[in-house]
Amino acid sequence: MKDLSLLTWKEIKELDKDKSIVSVVLAPIEEHGWHLPLATDLLEGEHWSRGALARAEEELDAGCFYLPAFPVAAASVNEFYGSIHFSMRTTCTVTREILESLCCMGFKHIVVIASHADPQHQIAVEKAVRKVNRKYGVRAIAPMGPIFMGTGVEEEKELKSFQEEHPDDYHAGWVETASLLDMDPGYVREGYRDLPDTRITDRDMIFRKKQLRAMGAYGHMGSPRHASPELGRMLNENCVASLCDAVVKFYRRSGYEPYARYALYRILPLHLGFLRKVRRAKNRKEKD
Ligand SMILES: [Zn+2]
Repeated sequence: MKDLSLLTWKEIKELDKDKSIVSVVLAPIEEHGWHLPLATDLLEGEHWSRGALARAEEELDAGCFYLPAFPVAAASVNEFYGSIHFSMRTTCTVTREILESLCCMGFKHIVVIASHADPQHQIAVEKAVRKVNRKYGVRAIAPMGPIFMGTGVEEEKELKSFQEEHPDDYHAGWVETASLLDMDPGYVREGYRDLPDTRITDRDMIFRKKQLRAMGAYGHMGSPRHASPELGRMLNENCVASLCDAVVKFYRRSGYEPYARYALYRILPLHLGFLRKVRRAKNRKEKD
C-alpha cells in the first residue's frame, strides 16, 4: 500500500492499471461536539481505508494506493459553529473531477470512501460515481453509504446487542467517540464521560431544525459517555472488514452490487435541485 501522491507521474504511468486499486477519502471538516476534533470523519475515513487496503492487498494480486483525503463534503445542517461544508452540487462536481482525473490516468478500480453518513453527502458522491461509470464503464464504487445502512460482514454479537440497547446515536455520540478512542485516545477530550445524552429519533433526523435543537449547545447527537476503546475496536474492525469485502468483490467485479446500491438514493426529495424543480413546476401550473 502506497500514497499515490508520493509517486512521480512517470512511476504512475508505468503501473499495471489492471492490477491497481486507488482509494479516495471525501469527508468534511465539521464540528463533532465538545470532545472530538473537526477532522473526525477524515480520520475515520483514512483509518478504515488504509485498514481495508492493507487487507485487500494480502488477499489480491493487486497493488493498493491511497490519495491524501479531500476535506470536501455536503451536509444537511450547516449552521453549527466550526464546520466547513460544501453544497451537494460542489461535492458532486469535485468527486466527479477527481474520478475523471484518475480514469484519465488509466485507473480501473477506484474506491471512494465517503466517511460522512449524511444522506446529502452520500447522494452527491453516488451521483458522481454513476456519471463517471456511465462515461468510462464501471470503474468506481462508493460503498460507505450501503455500509452505514448495514451492508457488510456480520457484527460481533456484543456490538450488535450494545447497538440495540443504545440506538439513535448519529453524530459524535458513543459510536464516533469509541471509534476515535480506538484509533488514538489522544483525539478525545477527557470530559466526554460527563457530557449529557442528546436525543433525536431516526424519523426526526430529516428535519434540520429538530437536529439543531437536539445538538443544543453541545453539537453531538447521541451518548458519548457510553464510548469505550473496546467498542471502538469492534466498530472499526467491522468497518474495515466490510470495506475490504467491498474492495475485493469490486476488484473481481463479482458480488459487489450490494455495496453499489445506496438505499436512500431512490428518495428524490434528497437530490440536489429536486425541491426547486417541484416549486418551479407548481408555479408554472398556478400561472396557467
Ligand atoms: Zn462524524
